[in-house]
Amino acid sequence: MKFDVAIVGSGPGGYKAAITAAHLGARVALVERGLAGGTCLNQGCIPKKTLLHLASLIEDVNELQGLGLVGRVHGDFRAAMAHKDEVVGGIRDNFRVWLKRLGVHLIRGEARLLDARRIRVQPCPPDPDTPSGAGAAGDELSSPVELYASRIIVATGAEPKELPGCPTDGRMIINSRDFMFKLEDLPASVLCVGGGAIGVELGFLLHQFGAKVRIVEAGERLLDQPRIPERASGLLERKFKRIGIEVSKGMSVERCRVDGGSVEATFTDGSRASFERVLVAVGRRPYTAGLGLEEAGVVLTREGFIQTSEYLETSVPGIYAIGDVKAGPMTANAALHDAKVAAANAVNGNQMTINYFKVPFVIHSALEIAAVGLTEDQAEEAGFDADVARSSFGGSGKARAHHDYEGFIEVVHDAETGQLLGGCIVGPEAGEQIHMLSAACQSPRGMWFFKDMSYSHPSWCEELEATIDPYASAFSKSGKDLFRPGIYASPHAL
Ligand code: NAD
Repeated sequence: MKFDVAIVGSGPGGYKAAITAAHLGARVALVERGLAGGTCLNQGCIPKKTLLHLASLIEDVNELQGLGLVGRVHGDFRAAMAHKDEVVGGIRDNFRVWLKRLGVHLIRGEARLLDARRIRVQPCPPDPDTPSGAGAAGDELSSPVELYASRIIVATGAEPKELPGCPTDGRMIINSRDFMFKLEDLPASVLCVGGGAIGVELGFLLHQFGAKVRIVEAGERLLDQPRIPERASGLLERKFKRIGIEVSKGMSVERCRVDGGSVEATFTDGSRASFERVLVAVGRRPYTAGLGLEEAGVVLTREGFIQTSEYLETSVPGIYAIGDVKAGPMTANAALHDAKVAAANAVNGNQMTINYFKVPFVIHSALEIAAVGLTEDQAEEAGFDADVARSSFGGSGKARAHHDYEGFIEVVHDAETGQLLGGCIVGPEAGEQIHMLSAACQSPRGMWFFKDMSYSHPSWCEELEATIDPYASAFSKSGKDLFRPGIYASPHAL
């Protein structure tokens, strides 16, 4: 079978690359050994967002008791998990039809690279852990096939890291995959090991449904990573404390022991506590085993990620790698960004380059946190005279009307020139609002983008204008005649 582009893995990276390449006129094969849609659709973003939507509704309704609403609501975890399965299954069922319409050949099987142009695909049995009857990806093979493709894109993703001393058993000590595939009933108490993206998202949703949650984080703060300002993680931590999620920082779990219906955890400070379940969320590692990468000559980094150029090409010309399997941010947003870059380069030759600062990073938890571009620290490190325009949602009509005004906006810009560099939004619909900031960072009008717009009132997005307006006006009045483009108005910006 001959193709222009063959893609291995049908997560957000793989399917977006397939669609992009097909739109560009390529004949495309997409190989998947598990469920169509990969981690994002089956065990990540979509099921998580479905459950977190319910969790947020519970909070919203209960916060408005006595303010016009009567009757607290509580979650039905079992029903929520069944609803989540239906949502995911519905999207997955459409997957085949959608790709077929685009002319993408979706093939179910295990792929192994033979060289820079050939892939061998073996039939493989369905994963026993995945929901029964779940529409597996693509045409079933009865015998191995060989695909020949001018370009190959590896998009095999990552799997949860194990924690020594606390090995997952899929039942009592679980990871996010086990959570989505196997957890049926709400545990009375859960220890989340790791206060990163998964820990704060799943920890919050378990709490909202009624579990007692403790998060143990080895670092000095929640969401301990450069894209999230400390102010944002600090606010989230204070909210966790207020609603009753316990957070222990600077410590970890030494070992876990399953004892009947509970797990006893021994912490690094010597203390012990028992929980009905332990959720291990200490990061993910790239999925490269059995792909034949070494034989094909593809170089891995010391950490085991596929090494790529700024064009996402690997050490072997014609083989590209995208998403979690290569070094860089491990998010669906980044994989979708990669997919557009790699697919265009695979079809048209290497022209597009990656820029992860352009890709929004969004956390859905007790507060929604979204960031794009440079933080204040990153801007300073890059040599800008970083300044931050700040406001809180306390003054927002919409936030007051919704009785939901915890949160803030930070817009990072250069104090000398007004050049817009990035920012962070914490609050309702931050993951939607961030697109406005993204657009401004890519606009030739930069900071003045917000002044040019007219807004609906009351709205969340008008707060961005309110935050930036005094700064943009001051620059205009300064007589410096500065109209700096946003930092990403040029494709090759930092
Ligand atoms: P993560 O890297 O976000 O967080 C892991 C956390 O675990 C870190 O804060 C780390 O300090 C901590 N940790 C590591 N070892 C520990 C130990 N022994 N004891 C206690 N804490 C320990 O990883 P994750 O939450 O597992 O998520 C996996 C990947 O998926 C990440 O790259 C994440 O960005 C991505 N993800 C993204 C989103 C999103 O974009 N909304 C959602 C979920 C997952």
